[in-house]
Amino acid sequence: PKYVYDFTEGNKDLKGLLGGKGANLAEMTNLGLPVPPGFTITTEACQNFLRDGVVPEGMREEVSAHLAALEARMGRRLGQADDPLLVSVRSGAAFSMPGMMETVLNIGLNDESVHGLAKQASGNERFAWDSYRRLIQMFGKTVQGIDGELFDEALEELKDGRHDLELEAADFRRLVATYKDIVRAQTGEDFPADPHRQMSMAVEAVFKSWNAPRAVLYRRQERIPADLGTAVSVCSMVFGNCGMDSGTGVAFTRDPGSGQQGVYGDYLQNAQGEDVVAGIRNTMPLQELESLDKAVYDELMRIMETLENHYRDLCDIEFTVERGKLWMLQTRVGKRTAGAAFRIAVQLADQGLISLDEAVTRVTGDQLAQLMFPRFADSGGEVIAKGMNASPGAAVGKAVFSTERAVELAARGEAVILVRRETNPDDLAGMIAAQGVLTSRGGKTSHAAVVARGMGKTCVCGAEELDVSVKERRFTTPSGVVVSEGDVISIDGTSGTVYLGEVPVVPSPVVEYFEGTGEADDELVGAVHRIMSHADEVRRMAVRANADNAEDSARARRFGAQGIGLCRTEHMFLGERRCLVEDLVLATSDEERERALAALEPLQRADFTGIFQAMEGLPVTIRLIDPPLHEFLPDFTELSVKVALAGDGAEKKDRELLAALKRLHEQNPMLGLRGVRLGLVIPGVFAMQVRAIAAAAKAVPGSRAEIMIPLVAAVQELEHVRDEARQILAEAGVEALIGTMIEVPRAALTAGQIAEAAQFFSFGTNDLTQMTWGFSRDDVEAAFFSKYLELGIFGVSPFETLDRDGVGRLVTIAAEQGRKARPDLKLGICGEHGGDPDSIHFCHQVGLDYVSCSPFRVPVARLEAARATL
Ligand code: PEP
Ligand code: MG
Repeated sequence: PKYVYDFTEGNKDLKGLLGGKGANLAEMTNLGLPVPPGFTITTEACQNFLRDGVVPEGMREEVSAHLAALEARMGRRLGQADDPLLVSVRSGAAFSMPGMMETVLNIGLNDESVHGLAKQASGNERFAWDSYRRLIQMFGKTVQGIDGELFDEALEELKDGRHDLELEAADFRRLVATYKDIVRAQTGEDFPADPHRQMSMAVEAVFKSWNAPRAVLYRRQERIPADLGTAVSVCSMVFGNCGMDSGTGVAFTRDPGSGQQGVYGDYLQNAQGEDVVAGIRNTMPLQELESLDKAVYDELMRIMETLENHYRDLCDIEFTVERGKLWMLQTRVGKRTAGAAFRIAVQLADQGLISLDEAVTRVTGDQLAQLMFPRFADSGGEVIAKGMNASPGAAVGKAVFSTERAVELAARGEAVILVRRETNPDDLAGMIAAQGVLTSRGGKTSHAAVVARGMGKTCVCGAEELDVSVKERRFTTPSGVVVSEGDVISIDGTSGTVYLGEVPVVPSPVVEYFEGTGEADDELVGAVHRIMSHADEVRRMAVRANADNAEDSARARRFGAQGIGLCRTEHMFLGERRCLVEDLVLATSDEERERALAALEPLQRADFTGIFQAMEGLPVTIRLIDPPLHEFLPDFTELSVKVALAGDGAEKKDRELLAALKRLHEQNPMLGLRGVRLGLVIPGVFAMQVRAIAAAAKAVPGSRAEIMIPLVAAVQELEHVRDEARQILAEAGVEALIGTMIEVPRAALTAGQIAEAAQFFSFGTNDLTQMTWGFSRDDVEAAFFSKYLELGIFGVSPFETLDRDGVGRLVTIAAEQGRKARPDLKLGICGEHGGDPDSIHFCHQVGLDYVSCSPFRVPVARLEAARATL
């Protein structure tokens, strides 16, 4: 295989092979944009390296050949003493993993070539020695694994309170010597002077950084596959740190927070790229570059327009200005907030750059779900600081000042806000654990901002008035407010406001739009409306809701549900009706049982009537009672204690209940007397429910009842229940479909037989997952799922996202066999997976007619059902 591609050879579609950075550098090169020449080593080389522990055969030769070509083009050799070519070695995976992997700049410098570099820069010694110390620092930290603090401390000591721009050549020269001492002390060897050795060591270090703990954690969080590997781009260096006519910056073609078109970015004079991202010095807004260097600014604006039209999307870029000459170092389709994603998709469609179909693919159900989160109420709350609105949302929690504390408190179920001066990639675990992130330094492109936006986590950054002391675990404001660890604060990532204490939250405008209660006249709501309307046109699957009362049904309908896919009737047996169920369980004669059922029937009828009214004209699938009866009885231990304490004075009913509990006790109730089994064993319960359904359906014109039997494993079970139900319906003169859940593996495997007796199937993938894996759905997530996720046995809980290989296989078999036996069989899903984006795409692929999910997920499901078709 070919392991190395020159920038002129690749293009943006080769992300899998060249990584996002390499592929886009190639694309920009081919667009004729000013990209410093270089080449990219493929992800395949990285995969081989990680597998074998050595670089693949032939790679070294290819790298040498490409380097030689680069040297020939640049007219200087790597590290050449009097006129050195220097290169950067950068990581770049197919999926963007901001700051997670390594980069080494200024490769090729040593005690000789540092002089050559100064000569190239018209005698700028300060610049040359600054570049050299940066190389040793980055190389030491990333390639040689030396604690970065050691270098940082040495720098702080040298600065002695001075601003970094006040340091002189001699200072940096001294720092180089100190850094070399650190390297020697930490590794037992001298810093490698040989430029070629520097380069190959850096390449291998970048390969290895794919498996750095923070990268592994980030991938798990973002569900990026673990085996892709990173590409490595080797790029000739250009310098933003060789004077005030140089600098480095980051820019977006639109505001990644709001989607507004305009000039968004940060610029830092006389600095190298890592200074911006690390928030070392405060940057200036990109607009100010216009007054510093109009020619460069104008060119940058032109390039940004070219890029946006070419990629037909928001792009973010990194650039460097070297003594008045603009260079493009990176571009990619930029991350954005959920709100910006909707607005940008619709803006681009309006501009004619993309179709509405494509606009629908540019947003995700997860983003829509984020927009449905509540926000802070406008009034109330003591404002203590204002920072940048880096990632929207409303977060309330206890202030914590380290990743460790964030993780610790979150594990105890506490809501925390991670407060830092600035974050770095080691804070990732804390950011995941926290409700929100607050920093006092760094702009919208700082690490905290970029990572938080990617995770959809609320973030306020650069709140400069805050004096954050990580050591003392507190921050203070200019007005003297002190917030210590554990004090509650609220942060608003949409406005950048920081409040003391807990601020009340209000519903999102998007939810109000769905509810039909908002004014609905803002750009975001308009964009959501456009996308959702189009989504409804293109999707094939219907979306229903799981709801078991009239109120939820009505809300689901407002959210766009086209029916009820699962009404769990057992929820109607709880609360004050519990004693009626107790009577049913305690009944010892037919009369007693009938009396108990007769008391429940009118209540059930009223429930169904309310739901039918709310869903008039739409199908309502009512599931007959499912869980084991003891779930409706008092707790065994509590009741035993009560009866024991009362002694002879114990109430008769309590004693009877206790006896019943003993009688009904099961070792594995979820595999015991529940669902259809219960209906067959306790006479009259199902019949009562069907009568109630029939009566309610008759009372509400336009009702469309569907009766669903749970936990069926054999067609014979279904036949018994169906025959009885049919008779009751016939007597009442009501028509209703009768179908079954497919939630036991045997049902899926014998679906052909079952379909003979069922007019519809609804996949109960909660139980189907439980029974297919043999995992107790109530216990395992806490017991061992985190270990399984860690071991990579699965990338995500199979209760969250449908396991296509196993459970999905059963669904596929059942759908095929069922349809073969009964071509007009209706197929749906009502397990939790019905609201999960990936599972919805699967349901579309196997040809289900609808998905059913909780009311709040209905809009998400509508959108994802559409995206599945595109
Ligand atoms: C299921 O098992 O997927 C289902 C929808 O039923 P329940 O969750 O009520 O068991
Ligand atoms: Mg079930």
